[in-house]
Amino acid sequence: MYYSLNIYYTQDRTTVIRLVVTSIKIIKIIYLLIKYLFSYENIKLVSLFYLARIDPKITFLFHKGFQARSTDNLKNLASVKIIPVFIGNAIGGKFFPLVRIIDYHIHTSFSDGMFSPRDMILAAAERGIQEVCITDHHSVWKPALSDIDFEDYFTTLDRIRSHLSLGTKVFIGIEVDLSSIDSFDMLREFSWDLVLFEYVFAQPEWEDRLQTVLNFKKKYPHYNLGLAHTRFTRVPESKMEYVFEKIREFEIIIELNTGYGNYMDKWFNYLDDAFWFSIGSDAHHKDSLGNTTLAINFLKERGIPLNRIVKL
Ligand SMILES: [Zn+2]
Repeated sequence: MYYSLNIYYTQDRTTVIRLVVTSIKIIKIIYLLIKYLFSYENIKLVSLFYLARIDPKITFLFHKGFQARSTDNLKNLASVKIIPVFIGNAIGGKFFPLVRIIDYHIHTSFSDGMFSPRDMILAAAERGIQEVCITDHHSVWKPALSDIDFEDYFTTLDRIRSHLSLGTKVFIGIEVDLSSIDSFDMLREFSWDLVLFEYVFAQPEWEDRLQTVLNFKKKYPHYNLGLAHTRFTRVPESKMEYVFEKIREFEIIIELNTGYGNYMDKWFNYLDDAFWFSIGSDAHHKDSLGNTTLAINFLKERGIPLNRIVKL
């Protein structure tokens, strides 16, 4: 009698332990789901979309940091499908990378960034970003690299990436301000992974500037050339076809800049899988690094395959 009772007791105890362990696992999964689905970032994102649907003025009031400057941008924003963004943002960036998580537009203390290159790269690795490209400014009117800084910039970044053993690939790029830089003699001495041009179409001289970019590509075809947060502001409608044709022909990369949301520009609706894209946060601060969800959704919604995102 005692013997059989003891067996009964032992089996019961094992079952109870199993039950407890399973319950803990289930509670943990539920906790993680809630934590990631309702993270601060996600709540902010979703409230931004809802507010955009209700009233643009309120949106600006609550999301001053979001640089959706025109009503057109907000209309686009309001049409974004919220649920996929919500879930994608939670699982895409946290549990496993559904897509390549890249950030090809980052600033450091070499120009107007708030952190040293080392800190930015470490923060990117911590966030699980698989590839980063540091792209400090080359300009004369803002904190930026000048010709004589290139050597130091390259050596420093190269040293950092060889000394840190991270799961993050580090590329070296530059963001050239075409409103103030017109000599590329020093630039071409270095093997940049990515050269981004800014202020190409934002000013009346856009045709000359586009020509500068095309001439550069003709002379140095091995460089990856991109248009940083470009908007086609100054291009008359009648010239758009010509501009797109040149961008396609010369394989100039179009950046989907998640900091400025430039791809909310109506002309971006005409882009297709004949173009090359890159994704960049334009982070000047660690907190802005690696937000790729909106750019990925932009491509998916237009049926542009993700392999049109350039690989450096
Ligand atoms: Zn920038």
